[in-house]
Order: sequence, then structure tokens, then C-alpha cells
Amino acid sequence: PSSLVVELRVAPLDEEYILILADDRTDLTRTEAMRHDFVVNVSHELKTPVGAISLLSEAIGDAAEDEEAVRRFAMRLGIESKRLTALVQDIIEFSRLQAKDVVQEGRAVDLRTVVLEAVDRLRLTAEARGITLKVGGRMDAMVHGDPDQLMTAVRNLIDNAVRYSPDGTTVGIGLSAHDGLAQVTVTDQGMGISPEDQERVFERFYRVDAARSRQTGGTGLGLSIVKHVVINHGGEVTLWSQPGRGSTFTIRLPEWEDDGSP
Ligand code: ADP
Repeated sequence: PSSLVVELRVAPLDEEYILILADDRTDLTRTEAMRHDFVVNVSHELKTPVGAISLLSEAIGDAAEDEEAVRRFAMRLGIESKRLTALVQDIIEFSRLQAKDVVQEGRAVDLRTVVLEAVDRLRLTAEARGITLKVGGRMDAMVHGDPDQLMTAVRNLIDNAVRYSPDGTTVGIGLSAHDGLAQVTVTDQGMGISPEDQERVFERFYRVDAARSRQTGGTGLGLSIVKHVVINHGGEVTLWSQPGRGSTFTIRLPEWEDDGSP
């Protein structure tokens, strides 16, 4: 690292010698700094919907006579509450991820079931915009880990693909396994991501277009959750994209081989 944080403890041993203990605290400080950043980011993100909710409830009180205005404000209130709920859910999900040791607690997971369930849950949302979810590939792949976390990761990718694509397009979801690696790909025909942004989209609360993200119900945490899940499972997530042509997100996980041991 470019800088080291060392904690020194000094104690007299006898009249002639002192004992100096040096502990490398660099990693600890880094985790603490990350935690601090997270709290600052989260507070910032929560302020928007919370502020809007409080303003709108005041406005509803003031506009009591004007039925049309009350209806409009109430609708906005509903949208802001939904946004707050989504954000709180993602924050909880995110903290849970950091607390859980999937290597220790994991089990054999059939990725096919995970993918099909994620697709099922988003089919209605996609259909409402005329977007087809097309599943294909060699469909048997076993991995080791937490099925709920893996579901969340795959669902987030499909959810993004749908949210950042025009109506009437197709989102392809592929599953395959070779050379000991299980692979899930999610391909869309959407707006794509520029090379500069590709490096940053996995960061917490990073959005290419904040207005669009909010408008479509995004929280800015989706891809960082995906990345955490995948790393927890000893895998990687990569992105290929061309602005205006679409994006492909690929999750690769070590394939689980049942060697019969308990
Ligand atoms: P959000 O909740 O804002 O979608 P994410 O962490 O899921 O947050 O994604 C971060 C940003 O990456 C998004 O705001 C969006 O700008 C961009 N992005 C993610 N997925 C896609 C995609 N499939 N196509 C285009 N842009 C995407």
C-alpha cells in the first residue's frame, strides 16, 4: 500500500530496555474508512426520498381544497415511499452480504433453478414494456453457495437489462458450464455503457444517469450487490458493452463437483 497505518505500543521492560510493539493496522483502517463512506453515502441517498415525503405531506395539507392537487401529490408520495422502501431493502441486503460467510455456510446450488426463478419474477415487469426474456444455453450447472444471494445477483442483472432497454426489445439470459466454470450471461439491446463508465458502474451509488436510474426505480446499489455476491462465491463479474448497441454482463463461478465427501 502507498501508506501504512501502524499502531505502536511502548512499555518499559526494565531500567535499561523498553518494549515497542508495532501492529499493522492498515487493513483495519481501510475497512473502517469504507464503512464510514458507506454510512455517509447511505445518509445522502436517504435524504432525497425522506425530504420529498415530508415536503409532499405538507403540500397535501396546504392543498386540502384543491382535489386535483391532492391527488397529484398523493401519487408522488406513493412513488417516493416506494423508492425509500427499495433503498432500505437494498441497504439491508448489502449489510447482510458483508456479514455472511458463504464458503462456510453454503451448499450445492442448481444454477438453473436460480436463473429460471429470477426470470419468472421479472417476466411481468418485462412484458408490461413488451420486452421478451429469452432463456437459453446448456442448462445444468451446479455451484456452491447461497441460493438466495445468487438469485438476487441474477435478478439485479436482468432487472437492469430491462430498465435500461427500450420497449419491445429482447433480453437474453444464457447459462453454460465448461472447464470447471459455470457462467450466466445477461445480454440486452439497450442504451449501453461508455468505456469510462464501465469501470465505475460496480461502485456503490454510481449511476451514469441519476435521473433515469431514479425514474426507473433504481437505487444505485444493484451492481455493487452483484459484485459482492459473486466475490463471496469465489467468482467474477465482467461487462462488455457498446453505447447504443447494448450490454452483456457475465457472472462466472467455480463449478461445484460433488466428490462424495460429506
Ligand atoms: P441503478 O439502481 O442505478 O440501476 P446499479 O448499481 O444497478 O444501479 O447500476 C449502476 C448504473 O449502471 C446505473 O445507474 C446505470 O447507469 C448503469 N447500468 C447498469 N446496468 C445497465 C444496463 N444493462 N444498460 C445500461 N446501463 C446500465
